[in-house]
Amino acid sequence: MLGAAEIRQLAERLDIRPTKKLGQNFVIDPNTIRRIVAAADLSENDTIVEIGPGLGSLTLGILEVVDNVVAVEIDPRLAQLLPETVGKHAPGKNLTLINQDALRISELPGAPTALVANLPYNISVPVLLHFLQNFPSIQKALVMVQAEVAHRLAAKPGGKEYGSPSVKLAWYGAARLAGNVGRSVFWPAPQVDSALVYFERQKREGDPTEVFRVIDAAFAQRRKTLRQALAGWAGSPAEAERILVAAGINPAARGEELGIEQFLKVASCK
Ligand code: SAM
Repeated sequence: MLGAAEIRQLAERLDIRPTKKLGQNFVIDPNTIRRIVAAADLSENDTIVEIGPGLGSLTLGILEVVDNVVAVEIDPRLAQLLPETVGKHAPGKNLTLINQDALRISELPGAPTALVANLPYNISVPVLLHFLQNFPSIQKALVMVQAEVAHRLAAKPGGKEYGSPSVKLAWYGAARLAGNVGRSVFWPAPQVDSALVYFERQKREGDPTEVFRVIDAAFAQRRKTLRQALAGWAGSPAEAERILVAAGINPAARGEELGIEQFLKVASCK
C-alpha cells in the first residue's frame, strides 16, 4: 500500500497540485484504506469499479482482496500514472483504466459486482445514482463521502437529514453508515469530516424516472404540504390531493414523512 511519503513523491514527480474543483483529497493513511476495504465486504470473485482512483491508494487496497478493478478517473495525469503504480505494487492483478468523466460513462467492461470509492465530494450523490442506474450488475457499494452527505444518504423517513438523496438511494436498495473518517488521513486535508456508507441493492422492477419526479417535487420546498408541493407535478393542487388520497396518503403530510414505497404508490396513482 502507499504511505504518505510515497503519495507526495508520486504527486511531485508529476507536478500534481491537487485541485478542489475535482475534489482531489488523497488518502495517505494505510489503516483508513484497510478500514474502507474491510467495510466493503468484498469477496475474491468480486469485480470492482472504482470512481476517482487518484494516485491509487484505495485501488491497491482493493487489489489485495480481488483480482480485477475497473477504475474511472477524469484527470489525465492521474489516469496515466495509475497502471504503472499498480504494475509496481500489485503485479499480476488486472486494472482497466478509463480516463473519462464518471458522470458521462454509460458502458463498463466486465460487469462489475461492487462499487468502492472515495468519491469526489462535489459530485458524490449524482455519480453514485448514475452508476446504480446504469450498471445493474453492481450489487453492493462502499463509498466515502462528506459526513453530512453520508448521513443524508443513510437517513430514514422523519428526520431533517432525510431528503431526496435518501429516498432516491432507497429506490435502488438499503444504505447504512459504516464509520466516520477524520480529516488528517487526507492530503490535502479537506475542510469537512467524512464518513463511509455501505449499500446493498434490492431487486426493483421498472424505471425510476417518474417516482424521482415526485421525490424532487416533494422536497423542492420542504415546508409545503404534499398537496401544495406536488401541485406542479400533478397539474393542480386538487389533482395532487386526488392522487394522494388514492395512494392512501394524507394530503397535509410533508415529503419527509414518506418512505420510498409510499412515493411509488403516489407515482402509480397519477
Ligand atoms: N481514490 C483516491 C484516494 O482515495 O486517495 C482519490 C480520491 S479523491 C477524493 C477523488 C478522485 O476523483 C480524484 O482522483 C479526482 O481526480 C477524481 N474525479 C473527480 N471528478 C471526477 C469525475 N467526474 N469522474 C471521474 N473521476 C473524477
